[in-house]
Amino acid sequence: MGRLVVLGAGESGIGAAILGKVKKFDVFVSDNGTIAQKYKDVLLHNKIQFEEGNHTAEKLLNADIVVKSPGIPDSIPLIKSLRKNGVKIVSEIEFAATYTDAFLVAITGSNGKTTTALLTYHILKKAGLNVGLAGNIGKSFALQVAKNKCDYYVLEISSFQLDDIFNFKPDVAIITNISEDHLDRYNYKMQNYIDSKLKITQNQTDTDYLIYDADDAYLKSEIKKSKAQLMPFTGLNKLKKGADGAQLINNKIAIKIKQEEYKMEKSILALAGIHNTKNAMAAAMASTLLKVRKETIRESLEDFEGAEHRLEQVLKIQGVNYINDSKATNVNATFYALECMDNPTIWIVGGVDKGNDYTALLPMVREHVKAIICLGVDNKKILETFSNVVDFIMETAGMEEAVKIAHKLSEDNDTVLLSPACASFDLFDNYEDRGRQFKNAVRNL
Ligand code: ADP
Repeated sequence: MGRLVVLGAGESGIGAAILGKVKKFDVFVSDNGTIAQKYKDVLLHNKIQFEEGNHTAEKLLNADIVVKSPGIPDSIPLIKSLRKNGVKIVSEIEFAATYTDAFLVAITGSNGKTTTALLTYHILKKAGLNVGLAGNIGKSFALQVAKNKCDYYVLEISSFQLDDIFNFKPDVAIITNISEDHLDRYNYKMQNYIDSKLKITQNQTDTDYLIYDADDAYLKSEIKKSKAQLMPFTGLNKLKKGADGAQLINNKIAIKIKQEEYKMEKSILALAGIHNTKNAMAAAMASTLLKVRKETIRESLEDFEGAEHRLEQVLKIQGVNYINDSKATNVNATFYALECMDNPTIWIVGGVDKGNDYTALLPMVREHVKAIICLGVDNKKILETFSNVVDFIMETAGMEEAVKIAHKLSEDNDTVLLSPACASFDLFDNYEDRGRQFKNAVRNL
């Protein structure tokens, strides 16, 4: 089958290596960092050759195909050399999709991917389908294609994974929304990032479906490029009479897809906030396209348990509610978190800024926030934007200190919200680490 080189030995890389081995490739895995012991064990067990702490050019440049981890940017010299040599570089999603005939529901967007993927998976599972959940979430797609052989996959796909797809063609694609994020990887050009998201539909035809947020200004114009059947959802507007899609009518979610038409009370949804109502609409529409009964959809949206680090309720202490929204790594996600706050809020924010414009948050901060606690190495932009807007704003150096100060400032009926609007890598390993440290600090109060 030729030589398969896998760059990056994380969850997706290891999955790709195993699938490559199953498909009789001569597989070599290269990671210039340290490979986690659990992954090393898998490689050794499967007799797959690998290197760590280095990329040895002569072992890589002779590849027939390269599967690149989404974390590796195009700008590094190795990738440039590979491209110059004409080596095909694909993402793990592209590689795995070649080896399955399963029905694919693929979800991308700036925010809401995980929530929508989990909701969709939950509904399809409850409907009794043989379905796998993969992509950015859980076990890698390639590993599942190698081992599980599901009839359906729900795939959460980031723009980095979409950057290296060519033939990937989901039966149902969902774009939850597009807002500024990851611009550092896209030459600070919004259009490059939008183009990357739209790649999810580039190979779709009129037998496929594209579910998308019709309230999203970027999507409204970009979506015309798709050849799929368009299925809009809206939380703000009304769809044209008789049109397929989802909308709110008198606080009810109204869904129409071809002959299928039904309504659900918004209040039954397990997840609060207009953004989650939209995620639920997208998941419900995808499930309806798969002929799941509306009763099953309703029940699943009702009993869904939210995902960790996404507006996750932690504890109530002395009348103060602590909420962990560590996964809010961009301004848009934090916008929706602040919008959901019913009580005066002490907001913990900051981290690694990916080109944030905080001014979009000003109305929400004016309305909901009583104090701001900055938690990042460089808080200059946050201080500049909000110093004149709230009575109290200060910088902290660690989670424990931030939570203690929040606790001191709080009064009965307040909310303490961690919703950083930034990546976490200045002070934490990742957003999960940040969320867990927050929860521990709250529990130790
Ligand atoms: P993703 O996988 O795209 O990062 P998540 O479902 O993990 O999305 O949610 C990330 C953050 O965005 C959380 O803070 C969550 O509350 C918020 N969020 C979820 N859905 C949406 C949406 N449709 N629009 C805006 N923000 C959202």
